[in-house]
Formats: sequence, C-alpha cells, structure tokens
Amino acid sequence: MCNLSRLRSMALDSSGKQPEQQQQQPPRASPGIGEAGLKLRKTPNEEHEPDSYEDLQLDFSPVLFSSLERYLPEQVLNSTRRDRVRFMRDLLLRYSPDSERIRIQRHREYREKILSSYQRLHVEIYSLDPGSFFAPSFLNALHQKSEQGLRSIMVQTSPGIFTFEMLNPRFCQMLLAEVEHMEKWVYDSRTTIMRPNTLNKFGVVLDDFGFESMLKKLVDEFISPISQVLFPEVCGTALDSHHGFIVEYGKDRDADLGFHVDDSEVSLNVCLGKQFSGGDLYFRGVRCDNHVNSEISDKEIYDYSHVPGQAVLHRGRHRHGARATTEGHRVNLILWCRSSSFREMKNYQKDFSGWCGECRRVKLERQKSSIEATKQALIKIGAEKSLVELASKSSAD
Ligand SMILES: [Zn+2]
Repeated sequence: MCNLSRLRSMALDSSGKQPEQQQQQPPRASPGIGEAGLKLRKTPNEEHEPDSYEDLQLDFSPVLFSSLERYLPEQVLNSTRRDRVRFMRDLLLRYSPDSERIRIQRHREYREKILSSYQRLHVEIYSLDPGSFFAPSFLNALHQKSEQGLRSIMVQTSPGIFTFEMLNPRFCQMLLAEVEHMEKWVYDSRTTIMRPNTLNKFGVVLDDFGFESMLKKLVDEFISPISQVLFPEVCGTALDSHHGFIVEYGKDRDADLGFHVDDSEVSLNVCLGKQFSGGDLYFRGVRCDNHVNSEISDKEIYDYSHVPGQAVLHRGRHRHGARATTEGHRVNLILWCRSSSFREMKNYQKDFSGWCGECRRVKLERQKSSIEATKQALIKIGAEKSLVELASKSSAD
C-alpha cells in the first residue's frame, strides 16, 4: 500500500544542469518595427479577427498571441505575420518575470545545442504518420469519427482510467531504437541532459530532441479531441501544451516511481516494451490541489499491468505510482497534456466535486447533514404542533 505522506506533485525537472550560464541579453525588437514609441492599445480592437498561431512553436501559449493581437498598434498589426510574432514574443519576454524569462532563454539555447549535434536514427518517426504509428483498431475507431466509434475501443478499467490499443509494434521498435540512440549520443558526447521530471532520473525529454511538433500534432489531432469526450470536466476547451518524454525502468535505470500526481490535465502513458516483469501502475483516486493527501476509498483502488503498445489515459490529478520493475527493462512514452484555460478557470473555483473524489465526499456529507437537520427541524415542528393541539384539546375538555 502506498504511503500518502510521500505523495508528491511531479513537475518538470529544474535541477538539470545547464551549460555554462550566460548573462541574459535584453530582448531585441524585430528589425523593421523597432521598439521606439510603439505601445499597445489601451482597449482591444474588437473588430479585428485575430490570427491563429497554433502552427508555430512558441515560448508562450498560441492563445496568448491571438488574444494579444487585438491590442497591437496599427503599425505592428499591418506588418508581416513573422514580425507580429517577434514583436509579441519580445513583449511577453520583456514583461515575464526575470527568472521565467531567463529559464525560457536558457532552455531554448539548450534545445538548439542538442538539435544542432544529435543525428536522428529514424527520421520518419519525427513527423506524425497515423497509418504507420497507430494500431489498426485505433485507426478504425478514429475513421468512424463518432463518439460511439471512439468509445468502442476504450476500456474504462476503473472510473477515469481508460485503456486502449494505440501504437503498432513496428513504431514501438523504432522509437525504442531512437531512444537507445539518444542515450548513446548523450554518453558518447558527454552531454548533460535534463531528465524528464523531478522523480525520474533516467529517460529523455522527447521535445528537447526534436519531437515537439510531432507530439503537438498528436495532442491537437488525437489526444485533445479524445479527452474532450472522456474528460469533459477538464477539456471543454482544448489541451494546448504538452511535455513529452520517455521513462526507463529496470536494472541500471529507475526502479520504481513513488506515489504522485502529474503536472498535467490529462496524461497518456504507453508502454513501448521491452521484456519485463513487475512495473504495475497503481491508481488511487482523483484529487484537487487541496485534497491531494486525503484518504483513499476502496472504490478508488486500481492496479494496472502494462502491455506493450497499449495506452492508459487518465487525469493528471489521478494519484498514482509505479511498482518496481523487478526483471528486464521497461520503457514507456509519457505525454502530459495541459490546458491553459482550465488552469486559469481553476483559480476562480473552490469546489471541484465534479472530479475530485474528496470534494465530492465532502459535498455529499454536507448535503446529508443538511437533510438530517431539516428532518430534525420538521420533527420538532411536528412535535410542537401536536403538543399545542393536545394542550388546546385538554383545555376544551
Ligand atoms: Zn477536492
């Protein structure tokens, strides 16, 4: 049984050593536009229909760029799309807190360094090709383009946990080989890489190795629409950012993974292989930030054994951990999917009984005691009424 006091929120690894840190340079305004005298409008230009920036790899959410566009001065609004993006990016960087700005800048440099020297093994897996990536059953379900078709391949093994055949064996093999190739490059080139998160000390961040656009497409075109059906409480609006990585368990790798919640709205976990024993995932109920350490109810206990190619899709707030991989070597692809609008909305909400098991329990308790109080009040009124009647009867007699 897991120890609740150990539960942690698994976040991005910020402890990964970085190359020698350089002094942050102030962001430069784009040529042609310049910074001088260009100020944002005080009120948004409601008549302007903002562009979509979903196709670009940006340091901030594309939605933020679209919203900011309505505030752009005419001169910038009428410039090229590239100049507009540069202007908005520089502006956002200038106004984001220093530490965040420096982190973004350093991370960009870190990625550029990897991309400029890492030689890809299987170039074809860097662009999403559903026909060769996905299992036939998953492709068939997608082709039906209906909720019913989608649900026909999903097994809800426990409330909020969905499993389905997702990746075909050939793609799994290629991705496994690519990961081995990355690890070999890390070793040979003596590069220090950032590991996936605060708990996993092995594995690689796929986004840092050039998989960002492929994974973005996977989220946009597949995981986000699927999640809108399966998790409408979080994904009423689209999932708009992700963190994609590989975890490795077994001898000379991570042994197990402590009880935690993910820094995601929805997490996709697909086993790629290889031969292994153990490594089961254990799930223990969905919780909001306030109730992350609350008790487990019997109904929330669920353990899952990995099958290569098979995906598990669950809420990031679904508390879970992985038991020790006792033999062999297990490699999983993990995709943390996030929604900026869900996170924004969450700041204004207090009750998450729509999805947090503990909020729901507290709400039911409250309803029960309120019903009980009403019942008692009615009994009291009834008793008083009978007494009054009795008294008036006896005085008449
Ligand atoms: Zn709660």
